[in-house]
Amino acid sequence: MENSRTVFTQISDFLDYLGNDFATNFAISKALADLDPTPKFPFLCSRHYADLIRNAADPTALLQQILPKKEELKKVDGFVDDPVGDEPARKSDCVIQKYDGRALIISTATCGVRCRFCFRKNFPFQDIPDVARQVSDWLDTHTDIWEVILSGGDPLMLSPGKFRDLVEAIAMHPSVTALRIHTRLPVMRPDLVMQHFELLRELPARFNCVLVSHVNHADELDPESATVFAQLRYCGWTLLNQSVLLKGVNNNAETLAALSKKLFSQGVLPYYLHQLDHANGVAHFEVNDPEARSLIAEIRKVLPGYLVPRLVREIAGEKSKMPV
Ligand SMILES: *Cc1c(COP(=O)(O)O)cnc(C)c1O
Ligand code: SF4
Repeated sequence: MENSRTVFTQISDFLDYLGNDFATNFAISKALADLDPTPKFPFLCSRHYADLIRNAADPTALLQQILPKKEELKKVDGFVDDPVGDEPARKSDCVIQKYDGRALIISTATCGVRCRFCFRKNFPFQDIPDVARQVSDWLDTHTDIWEVILSGGDPLMLSPGKFRDLVEAIAMHPSVTALRIHTRLPVMRPDLVMQHFELLRELPARFNCVLVSHVNHADELDPESATVFAQLRYCGWTLLNQSVLLKGVNNNAETLAALSKKLFSQGVLPYYLHQLDHANGVAHFEVNDPEARSLIAEIRKVLPGYLVPRLVREIAGEKSKMPV
């Protein structure tokens, strides 16, 4: 019951919710063309995001991120199932370590949305019943790790109890001094972020806490995301954002500048702008490097330096994200 009121798993229900007037608008009908009704990476969108789409100045930029298209079926050279080398860097079912001192935890397989450009859309997720214990055992023997990054899936999709277990297991390791959460829920399911609030409020006393949101367009930010960010900031969280550069969504200097400004107005600084990871089925979102660099050069002319994200690409096997 909860589900049918908060998320859509059927494209038809989602479109019904948006309504007829909306779907017949010309720009939107273009975005609705070529849908794949039975995608391998299934459709999922929250009601909150549907409301954002309804109120967006540019609804197509949001629609493109969640609507499954037949283009995803196209096989393109160089686009593979594991584009960022997650498999060779897996230390256990749920621990991935690529970089010095930092480990990333696949906390859960679920997200508040299924982004069509997701770099882990082909990741062999399995439900890991005892994430907390696995992480704890691994950290016991890896005392060089000082920052733990909770990723996924979306770590804030865990039930409050499981999320607390995981954080408590990490907190037992004095070598870990920083906790980072990578999440798209402030713009997908702000209600679920608030479920964890009691714990999130306590954490800055124990760790250096960083929340890295994933927001790609200014229209994804609204008063609810502002509330989530304001409360976290008030408790001492550092707030950063990462975006993916996406054709048809945000490959435009005005759009990127507006995103940086709106993030800042909600207390969040841009961190990374990622060049698309080459996962199977995402090639139609690709923006080439010269265009990407010139977009950054454009926004640098109109923004303070601290609002210009670092343009990076992940290259499997490298010791950090690589500047483009
Ligand atoms: C991106 C990533 C990180 C974080 O890298 P930063 O440059 O510190 O943001 C850490 N671990 C893995 C496996 C990653 O993919
Ligand atoms: S929120 Fe992140 S991990 Fe989840 S579907 Fe979107 S891009 Fe993929």
